[in-house]
Amino acid sequence: MWTHPSQLSGCVLNDECPADTNGGQPGPLTRGEFLACAGGALLTQIAIGGSALGGPSPAGPPHRWKGRGESHVKRWDVITIGNLSRNRYWGESDDKAVRPAICTCTLITGEEFCLLVDPSLADVVEMATELDRRAGVKTRDVTAVFVTHEHGDHVAGITHFADARWLAAPAVAEALNKSAKLPHRIEDAADRLFDAIDVIATPGHTETHHSLRFDCDGLSVVIAGDAVATRDFFRERRGYFNAVDLEMSARTIDRLSAIADIIVPGHDNYFLVDCAAGGT
Ligand SMILES: [Zn+2]
Repeated sequence: MWTHPSQLSGCVLNDECPADTNGGQPGPLTRGEFLACAGGALLTQIAIGGSALGGPSPAGPPHRWKGRGESHVKRWDVITIGNLSRNRYWGESDDKAVRPAICTCTLITGEEFCLLVDPSLADVVEMATELDRRAGVKTRDVTAVFVTHEHGDHVAGITHFADARWLAAPAVAEALNKSAKLPHRIEDAADRLFDAIDVIATPGHTETHHSLRFDCDGLSVVIAGDAVATRDFFRERRGYFNAVDLEMSARTIDRLSAIADIIVPGHDNYFLVDCAAGGT
């Protein structure tokens, strides 16, 4: 059984949480309890017609999260926040790269697995440093790697995890295995991983792109990969400039919007779907 370091040494949130739990007494909180408290406060504010962001909001029914409370996923952590090589929402042309692209890389952990999605950093020391810095996890602790699609920036660091299982949707695995660029084969990922994480088809960026969806702390979380490039692309329902099918990209973003509370995009920090959707 794999155990996250925070479960061995106590909750790292303890020193940073306000002392308003346990009947007014400071006390240890698990991450799940902390998020449940934070979510409860958010729900209360929405229910009484206030905005969690401080501004007015129209009165309406209480917000309903889409996730389930029961899940084999114990926690998830963004390891690297990605960026695009060119970003039209920053006034940059689609015609040429202005910086190296880095993809967003996420770690999903449960009792029986430690799954890294889209290993982003080609440098072995940098990858190990970010895993340690963001999650207190060593490279050898990663038991499996999942790749959303075959683009090079999403497999840049996969070879650092030679002892882990390498997973992708069958068509993505086939493309990578055919390319013969990797030292060992990618396994076909079925519809569901570790009885916890759904593998869902999200075509548009590529024909065979797949994302992951799971429940954690009562929220439905989607690791979108490049099905959603950044929050701005999500808001405009736009595929990235190199998408094979922009219409399909828009439909895929619509579908993800319907099933997710939180989206982790391919090249940006994660965001709340309902907040991002409300701006346009
Ligand atoms: Zn891509």
